[in-house]
Amino acid sequence: MYTDVIKASELIKADPLFGQTSFDNHEQVVFCHDKDTGLKAIIGIHNTVLGPALGGTRMWNYTNEWEALNDVLRLSRGMTYKSAISGLNLGGGKAVIIGDAKADKTPAMMKRFGEFIHSLSGKYITAEDVGTTTPDMDIIRDVTPYVTGISESRGGSGNPSPVTAYGVYMGMKAAAMHRFGTDSLAGKSVLVQGTGHVGETLISYLTKEDAKVYVTDINEERMQLMVTTYGAIPFTGDDIYSADVDIYAPCALGATINDDTIQKLKVKVIAGAANNQLANEATHGRILMERGIHYAPDFLINAGGIINVYSEIAGYDKAEALKKTENIYNTTLEIFNLAELNNITTQQAAMSIAQKRIDERKKETAK
Ligand code: NAD
Repeated sequence: MYTDVIKASELIKADPLFGQTSFDNHEQVVFCHDKDTGLKAIIGIHNTVLGPALGGTRMWNYTNEWEALNDVLRLSRGMTYKSAISGLNLGGGKAVIIGDAKADKTPAMMKRFGEFIHSLSGKYITAEDVGTTTPDMDIIRDVTPYVTGISESRGGSGNPSPVTAYGVYMGMKAAAMHRFGTDSLAGKSVLVQGTGHVGETLISYLTKEDAKVYVTDINEERMQLMVTTYGAIPFTGDDIYSADVDIYAPCALGATINDDTIQKLKVKVIAGAANNQLANEATHGRILMERGIHYAPDFLINAGGIINVYSEIAGYDKAEALKKTENIYNTTLEIFNLAELNNITTQQAAMSIAQKRIDERKKETAK
């Protein structure tokens, strides 16, 4: 069964690829190596039924290759469902480069990596992710067209974070509608964890709507900036997971809903940007449901970024990207209703809609 968190000790026992815990019928996995530039990368193509596999390149100092492999398998699978639920004609893919982005990355390495992407003839399209930047995408663009998230001056779609934040805001409003019977967030208390690119824009929407916004960040300066710029309130309690607020918006890191935190939660709604918020999709999704906490699936409501980069391929403009992102509101409502009707978790409901779309397309193309 697929799980999100894999203990290092469990990785090496399994068969090298098809036996890995994160392997989930991936179509293709490509290992790339270049001695001269020190490039060691893995491209994971999970599913291309709906279109080319699009997903960012993460550069990370993985402890070992098993960890890198499992990350690319897990992340590429996630992209399949994110694009499918968002109605995009894209499959799911992701790439990882093994190394320290600050110390090891060079333009020559990125160029070589771009050549590997090009050799896949468009089956995989990259974008930026943790450890890679817009200038890196520009270098890749010099050797292949199969890249998104390039500079606006070169025809790119620009920073995706504000669009992501807009989608999260829409998902949060839909969750509020389902839970409170109104999508107005005025007067609702919202705890935003992480005040970075997405968190900041989300905070601006929330404060504009007169929500009571509490903020927390390990970066004290960022937190203060939110206080002075938007009138947010710094969270001062001992434990953010037992905060007495209406809505929790994880916008920093994944797996914050886990065995240690889940029973402490007092919130009524969870809606945030972080990827893989549930440490275990099945177990923690069900506990949230049993506890009456309304969880807006992360891969649905944080899809604004991919909708934005998709505009580079589909050839639509920013206004259209925002309109598509706004539709996250309707999809979130649909998922809450489906989950309630079938007594399943919202995660399961979202996955089933995404899977249905993939299955239907597969049937159509087989005709
Ligand atoms: P970011 O790096 O700009 O901001 C993250 C913020 O979280 C930083 O201010 C950091 O100091 C803070 N932080 C880190 N650890 C923390 C902790 N333990 N407690 C509190 N704060 C902590 O990242 P971002 O682009 O704003 O993305 C936020 C999240 O949303 C990430 O998980 C990212 O993977 C996800 N996401 C982002 C996008 C996008 O378009 N940027 C799209 C989809 C998903």
